[in-house]
Amino acid sequence: MNNLNSKKFNCTGCGLCSNICPTNAIKIEHDEEGFYQFNIDEKKCIDCGLCVKKCPKINFKTKNKKEEMKAYAAYSKNKEIVSKSTSGGIFSELALQIIKENGIVIGVSYEDDKVKHIVIDNKKDLEKLRGSKYIQSYTGNIFNIVKEKLKQNKKVLFSGTPCQCAAMRNMINNDDNLIIVDIVCHGVPSYKVFEKANKDRFKEKVTKVIFRNKKNGWSNYNINYYNKDKLIKSIMHSYDEYFIGYIKNCYLMKSCYNCDFATIPRVADISLGDFWGIETTDKDFFNKNQDRGISLIYTNNQKGSDLFEKIKDNIVYKEEQLELSYKYNPRINNGKYSEKMIENRKNFFNNDFDTSFKSRRYTPNLKEQIIYKIKRPLVKIKRLIKKVGEL
Ligand SMILES: Cc1cc2nc3c(=O)[nH]c(=O)nc-3n(C[C@H](O)[C@H](O)[C@H](O)COP(=O)(O)OP(=O)(O)OC[C@H]3O[C@@H](n4cnc5c(N)ncnc54)[C@H](O)[C@@H]3O)c2cc1C
Repeated sequence: MNNLNSKKFNCTGCGLCSNICPTNAIKIEHDEEGFYQFNIDEKKCIDCGLCVKKCPKINFKTKNKKEEMKAYAAYSKNKEIVSKSTSGGIFSELALQIIKENGIVIGVSYEDDKVKHIVIDNKKDLEKLRGSKYIQSYTGNIFNIVKEKLKQNKKVLFSGTPCQCAAMRNMINNDDNLIIVDIVCHGVPSYKVFEKANKDRFKEKVTKVIFRNKKNGWSNYNINYYNKDKLIKSIMHSYDEYFIGYIKNCYLMKSCYNCDFATIPRVADISLGDFWGIETTDKDFFNKNQDRGISLIYTNNQKGSDLFEKIKDNIVYKEEQLELSYKYNPRINNGKYSEKMIENRKNFFNNDFDTSFKSRRYTPNLKEQIIYKIKRPLVKIKRLIKKVGEL
């Protein structure tokens, strides 16, 4: 047997194997924990070994070099873009540039109640890709679509988690028209848990979530749950049971606890994240942005630098020291989570899965509740002062 079943490894669910299998023997399906995994029909497999050769978890090497990386703090000059984006809206600025050049952009959208990679080619549809969806996305046939579009000489911006971007790189090693953008990734949570958390807490079916509603600012964001366009509930993130379990790493995909791609040098041409800690490392830049959201950008090679150069007029930016840029964002250069986190996961899936998300276990502890009670009125006062200042 010369296919993925013969290898011992933690699949990331990137889906590349199902795109490249010459006999369509591989399907990507949810496993019992609610994560995408490969499933091989051995009767169809011809033992060609292509899935093993191309799997980024088994074979991946980046040509990017740490010495060529540049780090920036930045945000879009367009306030509407920043307010609707997770961080500083830099993804939208990169995407708009590619659309201007008649290219296509690939990213993650809510489609038919699921989170999927889709292709867009216009400004209006960019809305769909905007904002982080803290759920594992289904890549479907996206790697083959990119290959096809590149054959047609189209410019393509592909975005996704670092493992999905490594897969894209293994599919197309070198094409001037392909630019790959990875997001800094805490890890992807289980779809099954997401659905359960919503069922336990809300009467209506959740079809869309805005994970970062910034009405109280970038630091104190709310999570908004929707049924179609109707808001079901808006919850401050530090009070949201699903989000707390996610941050405590109770239900990430197994491969996320030892991620090969959350490292420097990064896998893509450009990497995007939140510039956490900038209020400490550069107070002036933080104050200038008024807590609207600041992106951390890495240009990882010449191709990344060239695209960044093209959007400079549309953004406010500042170069930062590399080491300082990830001081408060450990996931950028460390894919390993501690034993305690692995224990959290075991406990959740072995003992706690059936416990309601309304129970205390996934609500904040007493210390967190006290901090919240003190913080909440302060946030409201700060918001009021900001509004008065804008009049
Ligand atoms: C699961 C997940 C975990 C993250 N963890 C961290 C972290 O620990 N630290 C940090 O600094 N940043 C993290 N981010 C990245 C951050 O939330 C922003 O996505 C990033 O800073 C870009 O923001 P933006 O304002 O430029 O654009 P936005 O418009 O907010 O970003 C949208 C981009 O995110 C992509 N995207 C959205 N949902 C998904 C998904 N489910 N899977 C793959 N790609 C997706 C879109 O395709 C698009 O490229 C995470 C994002 C996700 C989706």
